[in-house]
Formats: sequence, C-alpha cells, structure tokens
Amino acid sequence: MSSKTMSNYARLPIALQRGQGALVWDTDGKEYLDAVSGVAVCNLGHAHPAVAEALCQQAQTLIHTSNLYQIPLQETLADKLCELSTMDAVFFANSGAEANEAAIKLARLHGHQLGIEHPLIIVTEKSFHGRTLATLSATGNRKVQAGFEPLVQGFVRVPYNDLRSVESIMQANSNVVAVLVEPVQGEGGVNIPDADYLSRLRQLCDQHQALLMLDEIQTGMGRTGKWFGFQHSDIQPDVITLAKGLGNGVPIGACLARGNAARLFKPGSHGSTFGGNPLACAAANAVIDTIRKEDLVSQVNRLADTIIGGFTHELADQAGVVAIRNQGLLIGIELDRSAGTLVQQAIDAGVLINVTADKVVRLLPPFIMNQTQAEHLVKTVSRLIKQLLEKNE
Ligand SMILES: *Cc1c(COP(=O)(O)O)cnc(C)c1O
Repeated sequence: MSSKTMSNYARLPIALQRGQGALVWDTDGKEYLDAVSGVAVCNLGHAHPAVAEALCQQAQTLIHTSNLYQIPLQETLADKLCELSTMDAVFFANSGAEANEAAIKLARLHGHQLGIEHPLIIVTEKSFHGRTLATLSATGNRKVQAGFEPLVQGFVRVPYNDLRSVESIMQANSNVVAVLVEPVQGEGGVNIPDADYLSRLRQLCDQHQALLMLDEIQTGMGRTGKWFGFQHSDIQPDVITLAKGLGNGVPIGACLARGNAARLFKPGSHGSTFGGNPLACAAANAVIDTIRKEDLVSQVNRLADTIIGGFTHELADQAGVVAIRNQGLLIGIELDRSAGTLVQQAIDAGVLINVTADKVVRLLPPFIMNQTQAEHLVKTVSRLIKQLLEKNE
C-alpha cells in the first residue's frame, strides 16, 4: 500500500475498524481477541460505555479551553490521582514521554535548588522512557537512540535490579539528583526486580538527597494488580509518571510529585497547550470511576491467576520456554529464541499478541476480558508457542 505517512512504523497488515470489550474487528470483518490493548492503553476494553458517554457529553459541552484558565475537571482528576497514589500534586501532559520530560525537568530543578550545577540522573539498562530527545537519552536501548546523537547529557546507566551499582555511583558522584526506573520493565521484556528493589532504592535516594522517580506509564492504573506498581512495595516515591491506561485511549499523561518535588514548578516554568484539557480529563475521570465502581483492580488479579495458571499448566515443562513472568496483567513468556513470527501467526488465528525484547511474548489483556476469552487466549498462544519451539528445534 502506498502511504504518505512516514516509514517509522513496521505495521502489521490489518486495519482494525471496530471494537467491543476484548474483541476487535478488522476492515474485512474478521474478529480478533485483543491481548495487547493498544499496548496497555485500553484497559477497560474497547467502546466502554462509561468512557464513551463521558467523551460524548464533554465533546458537546467543551472540548478545550487553555491552561490560561482554571479547569475544574483537571482539579477533580488531580484530586483522584493524588488520593489513589498518596502523592501531592499533578502536572498533566498528553503522552508518556511528555510526562517523563516533566519528571526529568523536576529532577534538574531539584538539583539546582541543592546548588548542583550538572545534575545527574541514574537510569537503567533495558529501560524504556519514550522517544523525545531527553527520554530516548534516558532509555536503555541503543536502537531507540541510534542516529539521534548527540544525546541529552546528564544520565548515567546501571543494570536493572542492581543496587550495588546505584550505590557506588551515588558514592562516587555528589551530583546525583534522581533515580528514574520502571517498577517492572515493560518494553525491556517484562523484567520484574527483586521484591526489595524499590525499598532499597528509596533508602539510597534518601541518603543522597536524590528523588526516587518511577516511570509507571505501563505499570500504573491497575495493570499490575494494584493501582500503581510501587504499591507492591512499602514505599512512597517522590515522582511517578502515568499515561497509557489513564485515558483508555484518549491521549493524556501525568507527572505526580510529592513533598518538595511537588513545589518545584512555579508559574511559567513548564506548560502544555493541550495537557489536561477538559476532554482528556473527562475520559480519565471516567476511567478511574469505572475501575473503582467495578472493582477492576481485583479483577486484574483474578484474571491474571486464570491466565498464568493456564500458561503454567500448558508451558511450564516445555523445552524452550525460559520463564513465565507476570505482575498482574503485565505478562511475559520468555522463549530461548526469537518469537517475532508468532505475532502474525496469532493474527491468522484471530488473536492479537505482542513480542518485545525479541524473545518475550508480551500479553497485556484488557481488565474486562472474560473467563472464556482468557481460556481461549491461553490455548491459542500456547499452541503457537509449542509449534514454534518444535519446528526449529
Ligand atoms: C509507553 C511508555 C513510554 C512512552 O509513552 P508515550 O506515550 O509513547 O510517549 C514511557 N515509559 C514507559 C514505561 C512506557 O511503557
């Protein structure tokens, strides 16, 4: 197909036209079970009536004003997010990368406030933080950076889940102002750190006056079986960033901060034309209200138990399956070989899946997927994985 869109995506050869719950249909009318959710975005499934209703009503009332004026829906959303996360204040953006940009700017302000001229932020290998220049510089993946040099300075990289490296960098450099990590690495291959990783990072940050900043763009909003990934440990971060699931598909990002970090931006120090506009906030408010009303965070855990139980039964003893990992409905099945071909095979079988870090089948089902659909997902994906592993043994 000839296209006037730039060639930066290797798109799969289907066009999705309509969705309902965990199902989507392409332009030929073929049905798919969606275990990608637009990459952890449409957590309530497609065409959710509460989100659709909120959007329709708001579109007929007021889509956009400006951050020149007060925006009551933004205040309401900030209140809800702060209550759920026990953070103090929110800056709204339109994407994950922009939310992380805000976090990075907060870290630099924090450093300058401490009199540090060249602030340094510790980031990790295999991380993903976005595609803007600062966030790709923070990202631990050379493919994301290649060609875009010179990178933004002020980042130093350590292996993920390695506290010793963080400690030695902090001891050797008096200019460390923040640590930025994902509670679970999503794009990097569904990498789950040791249970005490975040709490030990918290201690190190406290000792060195550094901000603990968590990129919760993929792990936030219920995906891991808690409202936020950090809530699996007994800590409070200084900054968290959200996007993906926050608007169920309506673009919105958020940078939440606590304590002194929540007071670093002053009038004029940061901004966004669209960030937190009435339409996006109406959607995000509806998302939060729905997750609460339908107790969907508990549903994440129930559904994850079914799916992980199923995969363990089907695949745990299968040669070539390296690991089955999950935190809630952030699920990774790591194989001993490239898994990329499974995506098209799953499409042929009527299921949408994702592969990341080459060898990891990543599943991000919507929270509302029903039991029958979950069983179908397990059966289909297990069958395809077994076929792949048997074929090129
Ligand atoms: C998706 C993602 C981002 C980038 O979000 P965009 O909305 O694409 O800018 C950043 N961090 C993590 C952990 C993500 O999963």
